[in-house]
Amino acid sequence: MGDARPIQRLIDEGYYDPETRSVRVIRGHELHAVNWQVEGALRMLFHVLDPAVAKDPKNLVVYGGSGKAARNWECFEAIVDTLLTMGGDETLLVQSGKPVVVFKTHTHSPRVLMSNAMLVPKWADWEYFRKLEAKGLTMFGQMTAGSWAYIGTQGILQGTYEEFGAIAEQRFAGSLEHRLVLTAGLGEMGGAQPLAVKMHGGVALVAEVNREQIKRKIEQGYLDTWSDDFGKALSIALSAKDRGEALSIGVLGNAADLYTFVLKEGIVPDIVTDQTAAHDPLNGYVPSGISFEDATRLRREDPDAYMRRAMSTIRVHVEAMLGFLDKGSVVFDYGNNIRKLAYDAGVSDAFRIPGQMVFMRPLFEVGRGPFRWASLVGEEGDIRRLDEEVITLFGENEKLTRWIRNASKHVRFQGLPARVCWLGYGERALFGVRINQMVRKGELSGPVWVGRDHLDGGSVASPYRETEGMKDGSDAVGDWPVLNALINAVSGATWVAFHHGGGVGIGYSIHAGFGLVLDGSPEMDLRAERVLTVDPGLGVVRHADAGYESSLRLIEEKGIKAPTARIGSKIQH
Ligand code: NAD
Repeated sequence: MGDARPIQRLIDEGYYDPETRSVRVIRGHELHAVNWQVEGALRMLFHVLDPAVAKDPKNLVVYGGSGKAARNWECFEAIVDTLLTMGGDETLLVQSGKPVVVFKTHTHSPRVLMSNAMLVPKWADWEYFRKLEAKGLTMFGQMTAGSWAYIGTQGILQGTYEEFGAIAEQRFAGSLEHRLVLTAGLGEMGGAQPLAVKMHGGVALVAEVNREQIKRKIEQGYLDTWSDDFGKALSIALSAKDRGEALSIGVLGNAADLYTFVLKEGIVPDIVTDQTAAHDPLNGYVPSGISFEDATRLRREDPDAYMRRAMSTIRVHVEAMLGFLDKGSVVFDYGNNIRKLAYDAGVSDAFRIPGQMVFMRPLFEVGRGPFRWASLVGEEGDIRRLDEEVITLFGENEKLTRWIRNASKHVRFQGLPARVCWLGYGERALFGVRINQMVRKGELSGPVWVGRDHLDGGSVASPYRETEGMKDGSDAVGDWPVLNALINAVSGATWVAFHHGGGVGIGYSIHAGFGLVLDGSPEMDLRAERVLTVDPGLGVVRHADAGYESSLRLIEEKGIKAPTARIGSKIQH
C-alpha cells in the first residue's frame, strides 16, 4: 500500500471511483472501520450517495433541492479517510459537510457529531447562505441528506400514507373506501399521493400539467391510469368511488382548471389538497391558459410575466379550494406554502384553509413519528424478518400492519434495504432493543441502523410546517430541537446531526436527527433503550409544555419526570 490513503481500499473494492465520482453501497460482513459503530456511519454515507438513492450523486446531492451529504468531493474523501482510521473512543466533528477534527471522547459517545447550514439568525436567509456557500464555507443538508439517513422514496410514501391515514382516522372512521381525494402535482414527493390514497382504499384524482410526470408515475407503479378529458376522468373516479374500488387517475391539465371544473359540476370531494411545488412559483408552479412547453419558454424569456400569470392561477386554484371547504370537503395545505402565495395574490381569507399539522399533530403529541431502519450488511431477508417482527409486536395497530403489508408488496428497495414506519413513545424503544437482541442471537444476519426523519414531535421548530399553530403560540421557539440533539448525544446515539432550513428553506426551520447502530452488543441494548426513549419522549414533553391534553396524560401514565406538566396553567389558551 505504501503511502496510499485509507480510502484506496474502498476504491480497490469498487465502492468508490474518484474518476467518475461514483459511490456504491457497501454490503457484506467484512469491517473496514474499527468497529460497527463507525462502519455503520461509513455505510450510511455510501448508501445515501448510491445512484439508486441520491438524486444527483455526482454533485453529492441526495434529495430536496440541493440537500447534500458532504460539502465537496475533497471533504467526502477526508470524511471517509477519517472514518476508516479513527478509534472506537474518538468522535469526528463535521461542520456543514466538512470534517474538522477528531477528538478523544469515550466509547459510549457518538462517533460523529454534525452541524449543517447553521447561521446566526439575523443572517439566516437564502441570499446570505448562498454567498457563504459560494465561498465554500457551508452546505445545505436538508433533513436526512446531511445526516446520512435518507432511504429513498419510501420515506415520502410512508409520510403521505400517515397523513391520509390520520385524516381517515379523524374524519372517516379509519378508511378512505368510498372516498374521493382531489389533489395535484405528481412530482418527486407529490407522486406518492395516488398510491398512499389507494393504500387506504380511496380514489385519487390528481391534476398534473406535465405529461412526462404522468407517464413516469404510471411506470413506477404509483399511478393507475390517466386522461386529458376532465369529464371522463371525473366520471371514472366517481364510479370507482361508488363501487368502493381503490383507484388513482392522473388528469393531464392545470390544477386551477380541474378544481374549478369539479366545483362547477357540483361534486364535493371528501378531501382536497395540493402538492404542486407552489413554494417556488417561478420554477415549481405552472400557470393556466398556456401549454407546458410554452410555459417553460416564458419562464426563461420573461420571468416577470410568468410570475404574474402563476400568481393569478394560484388565486383561482385557492379560491376553488375555499369553495370546496365551504361545501364541506376536508381541505388542507400540504406544506407547499400555497396559502401564503394566494394571500399575496389577493385571497384575503386563504388562511381559512388549515395546514397539514391539524391532522398530524395528534400523532406528535403521543410521540408517534417516522422511525426507520436499514440492514447495514445489505440483506433484504433481514428487512422481511423485521416486517414480521413489527407486526408481531404491534399487530393490534391496523394502520401500521396495513402499511407494512403494502410496503413489502409495493416498495422497491433503493441502496441498503430499509423500512420506515411510524412508532410511538415506548414502541420505538421496545422495537429497537428487540432488533439489537435479534442481531445478537443471529436471528438477523448482521447489524441494523435505526434513525428517523427530522420531521418529528420534539426535533424540529418550523412555524410554517411542523410547529404551525402550536396551542400556546410557541411555533418559532427553537430550543426544542437543540435540546433534542443534546439529549440524544449524551444518551448514546451513534451520530447526531443538527440542521437549519430543511423542508421550508433557510430561515424557516431548525431540526435535529440521529443514527444508532444496533450491532448486537449488550451495550447497545442500553443505548437503544435510552435514545429511543428520550428522543420521542422530548416530543411528548414539548407538546405537554404547549398544553396538549394527550401529552399531559401520557406523561402522567408513563411516569415521565416532567416538571413542565406542573408549572403554570397549560390549558388557558
Ligand atoms: P416537484 O417540483 O417534484 O413536483 C411538482 C409537480 O407539480 C410537477 O410535476 C409539476 O409539473 C406540477 N405542477 C406545477 N404546477 C402545476 C399546476 N398548476 N397544475 C398541475 N400540476 C402542476 O415537487 P415535489 O417534490 O413533488 O413537492 C411538491 C410540493 O409539496 C413542494 O412544495 C413540497 O415542499 C411539498 N411537500 C410537503 C410535504 C410535507 O410533508 N410538508 C411533503 C411532500 C411535499
